Parts: sequence; C-alpha cells; structure tokens
Amino acid sequence: MNSTETVTYRPADRLGLQRVIGQPGLLPQQAEKVDPSLPIARDELLIEVESLNIDSASFHQISEACEGDVRRIETHIQDLVSRRGKQHNPVTGSGGMLIGRVTQVGPEFPVDEKPVQVGDRIASLVSLSLTPLQIRRIRKVHPSIDRVDVEGHAILFASGLFARLPSDITDTVALAALDVAGAPAQTRKLVQANDTVVVIGGGGKSGVLCLYEAKRKSGVRTLAIDFSPHSLARLRSLAFVDEVIQADARNAVDIMEKVKVATGGKMADLVINVANLPETEMGSILACRQKGIVYLFSMATSFTRAALGAEGVGADVDLRIGNGYTEGHADLTLDLLRESPALRELFEKTYS
Ligand code: NAP
Repeated sequence: MNSTETVTYRPADRLGLQRVIGQPGLLPQQAEKVDPSLPIARDELLIEVESLNIDSASFHQISEACEGDVRRIETHIQDLVSRRGKQHNPVTGSGGMLIGRVTQVGPEFPVDEKPVQVGDRIASLVSLSLTPLQIRRIRKVHPSIDRVDVEGHAILFASGLFARLPSDITDTVALAALDVAGAPAQTRKLVQANDTVVVIGGGGKSGVLCLYEAKRKSGVRTLAIDFSPHSLARLRSLAFVDEVIQADARNAVDIMEKVKVATGGKMADLVINVANLPETEMGSILACRQKGIVYLFSMATSFTRAALGAEGVGADVDLRIGNGYTEGHADLTLDLLRESPALRELFEKTYS
C-alpha cells in the first residue's frame, strides 16, 4: 500500500458484536446472520482462506440432506455461507475451523498476547459458527474427510484463538487434527491410571487421538466402538487399542451388553462419545459404571436427551459437555502426532 493512503477500520470490538446483523445484543455465534464485509475492525485479523474443515456432525448432516451429491453439497455450503455470513449449520448448530494466510492485522489486535503478522499461515481454533466468512469460490469438496477447499476471506475477532501452522506437519493433517484438538486434551485431564476407557465412534479423527492419549496413562485399557468395516479394520491395526467392538452407537442396549461382556460386568470408568450422528447419548451413559465419567464431545449431542436419559435409567454418572477448548490443546494434539508414528501415518494416509 502507498504510504500516503489512509487505511480505514471499523472501531475495535473484542467480541465482534458489531458484526451481528439485525439482532443487537446477541453474540456472533447466537446470531442468525453476521456481516463478513470489509474493512476489518481495529482489533480484527483478516485471513485469506484456503480450506474449511466442516465439523463432522455438520458435514454428515449436509451430505445426507444432499444425498451425497458433491455438486449439491457445494451449492448447499455456498448458499449457507452467503445467507448467514458464516459456516453455521442451523440443524447441528456446529461449524468447524479453517486454515489460511493472514493478510491484514488491525492496529489494535492483541499481538503481545497472540503474536501474529501478515503472511503467517494459521488455523482458527474458534468455531466457524461464529467466524465471519465470505466464499468467492469453492475449489473442491473432499466428502470423505469433511474438507472444503475455497477462495474467500474470514475475520477473526480479538477474542479469537488460532494456531500458527507447524512446519513439520502438512497443512491438511494439521487442519484435521486441530479441528478436534479439544478431545485428546480433555482426555488427558479425565483419564486416571488403570481406567477402562470406552470410545464410541473411536475410528474417526478424534476417536483415535483420544484412544492414543488414554493409553499413555499406565494400566489403562482402551475399548473402541465403531460400526463400519472400514473403521473397525482401521482400529484393529492400532496397537494402542486393546479391544474393538462393533456396535451401532444409537443402539444403547447393544452397547451396554457388549461393554458388560468386555469388562466382566464392571463397565467403563470413562466413556468418550465422538460419534458424528444424533441419538447416541444413551449408549454412552449405559456403557459407564455408576459414578464414572461420560464425556460428550459429539456436536450431535442433545443436552436434554443426555440429562433426562441418565436420570431415566438411574445412572449416577458425571456428564461432561465436550468443550472443544482447553489451554494448550493445539500443541498437545500436534505433539501426539509427532510422538506416535502410527497416528501420524494414519492421519497422513487419510487426511493429506
Ligand atoms: P469423524 O472423524 O467423522 O469420526 C466419527 C466416527 O463415528 C467415525 O469413525 C464414524 O464411523 C463413527 N460412526 C458413525 N456412525 C456410527 C454409528 N452408527 N455407530 C458407531 N460409530 C459410528 O468425526 P470427528 O471429526 O472425530 O468428530 C467427532 C464428533 O466430534 C463429531 O460429532 C463432531 O461434530 C464433534 N466435534 C466436536 C467438537 C467440540 O468442540 N466439542 C469439535 C470438533 C468436532 P464411519 O466413518 O465408519 O461412519
């Protein structure tokens, strides 16, 4: 830019409240629509977006609604983002995250606290469900890995979180892993030595990361539940998975019976639900022992179904909402990929 040109900005607004259209007082995530237009605010970041990692539950729902037709999925996503100014699936309520290059840093962006400069390649660690986004063109949809390559821009608020992309891990692998970074990081906080840990939907991205992380604690036994032959085969190839069980995550009684057999009636100390479809709460609750912990990471989880369901079967279990953030979650997750050649190979084979 010519040094005599004056850059104009919107006023600083840490939470991006000025971006909400027609619903004053709401946060961008609660809003039906946000404004992704330029200029940025004095404390915002502008990102030229390369790829979106659509939240798995959301992509699954969109794909089903479009009968798996890639052209329809493309149009659906493009329309959704034009309508809402963000990739916020109204059915699942979830978003995903993005990678891209920083093209502008507002003069009041908190760079001391969150160092960043123009040219940095970053992954957003706040949901797309609140991130202003304008897609100029969809380059490619990758339906088997929930990824959409785009041309467009996104805006990160001063309150937003992001990670600089590592130089030793490919972008698409980092994108896939960082999308679910909260799950292994929360697992580290929840697993105790000698626990029996059941992971429902264990063959997916977050599932294998959680299983690996759980197994790092001494004496832990890991049981993975999944359904498709492909996911089961993948799980059987992983040395950190002690037992693989085939069950439909929606069939609560079947899961309960199978976990009962596998644990000699003791049930799981910790159940982690990372299945990407609705109606899986009760299988998780019934797989858990009394006073155990059920961590519901899946975005298809219903608070009502989980809370009333647990009460309905007299399950005194500690139900945890799957907060996608905990301090240090991005580094922890990337370090798991660096530590485990098996995980790294699996992610590279699947998400490159
Ligand atoms: P993923 O890679 O798609 O894994 C989901 C797994 O669930 C797959 O292995 C899938 O198997 C399995 N599954 C599907 N239907 C099943 C069924 N009927 N019975 C048993 N297993 C079944 O998804 P992810 O990226 O790890 O995400 C997992 C969940 O976390 C999603 O619900 C996502 O929305 C959520 N999420 C939450 C946050 C958060 O902040 N809390 C952040 C990101 C993602 P197949 O592939 O063989 O069908």
